Amino acid sequence: MSDLYSFTLAELEAFLQPQTASVIEARQYAGAIWRSLYRDHATNLDQVETLPSQLKLHLKAALRIFPPRQVATELSADRSTRKDLLELADGARIETVLLRYRDRYTVCASTQVGCACGCRFCSTGQMGFQRQLTAGEIIAQIEHFQRALATQGNNVSNVVFMGMGEPLLNIEPTLRAVHTLLDPRGPAFAPSRVTLSTVGIVPGIKKLAELHRRWPIKLAVSLHAATDVLRDRLMPINATYPLSSLFEAIREYTHQTQRHVFLEWVMIEGVNDTVEQAEALAAWIRQTPAHVNLIQLNPAGDFAGRPSSPEAVEAFAAELDRFGIAHTMRQRRGAGINAGCGQLRAAQMPAHDSHG
Ligand code: SF4
Repeated sequence: MSDLYSFTLAELEAFLQPQTASVIEARQYAGAIWRSLYRDHATNLDQVETLPSQLKLHLKAALRIFPPRQVATELSADRSTRKDLLELADGARIETVLLRYRDRYTVCASTQVGCACGCRFCSTGQMGFQRQLTAGEIIAQIEHFQRALATQGNNVSNVVFMGMGEPLLNIEPTLRAVHTLLDPRGPAFAPSRVTLSTVGIVPGIKKLAELHRRWPIKLAVSLHAATDVLRDRLMPINATYPLSSLFEAIREYTHQTQRHVFLEWVMIEGVNDTVEQAEALAAWIRQTPAHVNLIQLNPAGDFAGRPSSPEAVEAFAAELDRFGIAHTMRQRRGAGINAGCGQLRAAQMPAHDSHG
């Protein structure tokens, strides 16, 4: 049984052709299914009204829509952040977050079950890697929240791949999901409303630069340290892609795409919030079109680090200002609801599985 969310529109047309009288008819039915899926947010082929019953029967035997089952949910006190624990068809569990800012709704989607990167400050990293998500399972997370918002007359406006997992270590399904998200006949997200966040998988960044013309989405790099000694400590991936190769890839990306990148920096007290780190960061990016997002740490699992003090954040930001580096202090979202990635899943798991 194939997952309908994993199909591109062209693939669905090709799939329907043997069952229909002509290419035009196949295109017409594929369009009807597509509209039901992504405009009406259908979860069952019976909801596609314009399909002949014989074709519907055939499709129901071969295709399925797999809406994930919501196992748990948490809502922040100010109701701006909702985190859902979702169970997939095989029982694997992932987290997806909905962030509201004014009238904008952003889905933070997962791309893997668990993660192999092992970033020290991350709950998912402490859990280990379980499996890759399919493109359909990535799309299903966005549709999960589309359905919830549609009941209030709202829509998902932005998608960020910043949930569980490293998207560039699951690049084909992630890009396939991007392809569907940007399809003007489907979910029709503007490319500027889709952001992929990576810990710095150099070959993946180069691939995104090559594909930018086709899929001009935004790129964010989780940096968090500007010296190899510190980054090695916080992010084991730095041993494979040290800062020199990462910044070379970032420079190549900005040159090729003529876009700036976002550099994410989680502020950890006494660890990476020092003036020396700010200076080292400035030295790397002075000539690069980049915007630094400073984010307070959401303490996670076994990690002993604490969020930086307001004074340290201010001093760090002042140092970036001194070098003329654009930055934003991003609001810490979801504190108190296990909103750091992987935290809700870990909280729902028996102890032996939460580090699995
Ligand atoms: S921060 Fe992202 S890349 Fe790092 S361990 Fe967590 S999920 Fe993986």
